[in-house]
Amino acid sequence: QNGTLAGKVALVTGASSGIGEATALALAEHGAAVALVARRRDRLDELAGRIKGMGGKVAVIVSDLAQAGQGADVVGQAVGALGRLDIVVNNAGVMLLGPVAGGDPSDLTRMMDLNVTALMHLSQAALETMKPQKSGHIVNISSVSGRGASSLSAGYSASKWAVGGFSEGLRQEAKQDRIRVTVIEPGVVATELTDHITHTQTKDMYEGRIKDMEMLQSEDIAAAVIYAVTQPERVNVNELLIRPLDQG
Ligand code: NDP
Repeated sequence: QNGTLAGKVALVTGASSGIGEATALALAEHGAAVALVARRRDRLDELAGRIKGMGGKVAVIVSDLAQAGQGADVVGQAVGALGRLDIVVNNAGVMLLGPVAGGDPSDLTRMMDLNVTALMHLSQAALETMKPQKSGHIVNISSVSGRGASSLSAGYSASKWAVGGFSEGLRQEAKQDRIRVTVIEPGVVATELTDHITHTQTKDMYEGRIKDMEMLQSEDIAAAVIYAVTQPERVNVNELLIRPLDQG
């Protein structure tokens, strides 16, 4: 452990796997107390055990963020357990790639509910706590698909473009209260993200396309989050775009 973030409280959504898990661990390694949010309690409990083993402070919050009204509840639980809130990493997301025509409409709804609405509601709730503190940092995990779109990524790109638009507007609003906003746009990271693609043909095509690529590791994105949140308060890292070397 190093104490760069000692005394800070961070909340990470989607902390049960992939980028969120690595980010929560990295924040704890830098001394922050961490609230872990996702649906799979067993995975959160296992991570909480590791963090406690390092001498860290942690809270487990089980929530299906795609359900309405979770943002205020989750922030309330985190502040109740850990006392304040300094850093929010809005990371939970799904990437349900597929064609628009003939695709499952509920895929589009799920991506907008989780990737966009949950992120906005959680940010709103976090601001209630951060504004009186006159400090805070909201880190939103977007994607390269938040900067470009291609066939089969229309719905996912729409959700991540929304994250970019929301983040930029929020950055300009929140700076008056000394709250920073960072958007991080990873390229391909080796995680469970592709497991959830429901359109089988697209899933096979995408997994085939990335299988020989030297993908980013979740720790690479966690390192970017740590970079942003450990800068001096005058530094607002607005946007970080990170691709694997092999990605076009
Ligand atoms: P994972 O599938 O490994 O992680 C997704 C996380 O989101 C899990 O912890 C999952 O937990 C959580 N989650 C999913 N649905 C819900 C829900 N309804 N409520 C609460 N939590 C939920 O994928 P990644 O780590 O790759 O994804 C993290 C973020 O990174 C996403 O926003 C993704 O779009 C983005 N990203 C990923 C890239 C990649 O190539 N992997 C590239 C660019 C961006 P649980 O199932 O326990 O609820």
